[in-house]
Amino acid sequence: MAKKIIGYCRVSKIEQDINSQALEQQISRVKSIRVDDVYVDVLSGRKNDRENFLRLLEEIKLGQISQVVATRLDRITRKLKTQIEFIDLLKEHNVTLKILDQDYIDTSTASGLLFCHLLGAVAQNESDQLSERINHGLDYYRSQNRPMGACLGYQMTKEKLIISTDKILCEISSKKEFSRYDLARWLIDEFLSLRATYYSTSKKYNEKFGFQSSRLTNNRSNPTPSLSPTGIKRWLLNPQLRGHLVYYPNTEKQQIIYGTHTAILTPIEWIKIQEKINFYPEKQLVKTSNYSLSGLLYCSKCDRRLTVSKQKIRKNHEIIGWKIYYRCIRSTHGKCEQKKRISADEVKTELKEFLRQKSEYLSHFDSQQKNTICPEIVELTNQIEVMQSLPKNNAIDEAIRKLEKEKNDIESNQQNIIKNQTENIDILQKIYETKGFWDCLTEDEEKEVFKALIKKIVFDGFNIDIEPRF
Ligand SMILES: [Zn+2]
Repeated sequence: MAKKIIGYCRVSKIEQDINSQALEQQISRVKSIRVDDVYVDVLSGRKNDRENFLRLLEEIKLGQISQVVATRLDRITRKLKTQIEFIDLLKEHNVTLKILDQDYIDTSTASGLLFCHLLGAVAQNESDQLSERINHGLDYYRSQNRPMGACLGYQMTKEKLIISTDKILCEISSKKEFSRYDLARWLIDEFLSLRATYYSTSKKYNEKFGFQSSRLTNNRSNPTPSLSPTGIKRWLLNPQLRGHLVYYPNTEKQQIIYGTHTAILTPIEWIKIQEKINFYPEKQLVKTSNYSLSGLLYCSKCDRRLTVSKQKIRKNHEIIGWKIYYRCIRSTHGKCEQKKRISADEVKTELKEFLRQKSEYLSHFDSQQKNTICPEIVELTNQIEVMQSLPKNNAIDEAIRKLEKEKNDIESNQQNIIKNQTENIDILQKIYETKGFWDCLTEDEEKEVFKALIKKIVFDGFNIDIEPRF
């Protein structure tokens, strides 16, 4: 069976509202290249459960596709993580990627790949601005005191939240049926039981009701209400459970409208939850691995990955936060002599400075090194001149030819290096031109950008040694 060339087009609902022709324009442009079929999704690029995107992934995995064509990279995805995974998948199955508006993207070279990842990071940044525009539209809801979504336990009506009692699950062993409200009740009781943590509650909940954690399942088209430890924490703290509506949660604009619907948490339960959260240190309640440097730091002595440790930050005997450190866990078992630790903030500051300097260096490289001739070429040119001054014979002619070939190879090789370096400058400049690039990244996003740029960071007890991917 011949492999197919597939065009992929996507518009989000908002983009569609702004320009009703947007999708048609994309399709006709993709069709101007000879494609066998065009797959279309009308959904946000942040969502991975797009029907035709999933179909595309499936067919790539089955080896049915030779090339994917799109107008822009952000049509494929706006999530950096998905993009990295997508490009890895293409490479794995020898699929080429053609981006009509960004024809310089070449995922077969290291620097092209890096550029591609950075465009992904920038696209994600744009998408954040887009969500801000959505927020403006939703101001209307707030002015009406209308809910913008229901947390577990509730369902939405046009005007308000009501407790959700429709049975959605059946436990096979006991044939007992559960509604969303029952699930919420179970979670609260479980969390308030002795010794329960976010982690144990999440584990028990997902096991009891047969949910797979989203990390384990790729089937995003059928989302189950599985809950991660952090998800449970966020849910317990959601004012909806106490009968209040919250707008723009966890932002400066956060606003709570009290007593808009029936509460699920009783006042006593709420006090107990707060006590539990304040009593146990964060460390025991949540197990998290989402620190942006995790997986990148290595021990110089034993070459193992460093592990996170946390320390309380106190102010007037009150815990006001946590300081994150990395250290070699083997040293605590006496198996490695590297006992020193390094703070995550220190590493991040150094890392960002490293990337800034790298971008500066690369821009100098652009203007200076392009015109400097490398010593090897000078040497070869001299040798050729000497040869040419000698009396002619076949052996000398042959030697001159060889030297000239060598010289040409080095020259073209150098030009390639310059070409790659020039591309790297574009990438890094993109980062530093994007205002507040680092500030607007979440810990997860920052992690992805670091992952895209940095291969490894080695800690020797005093300093770090950064090994970039370019
Ligand atoms: Zn070690």
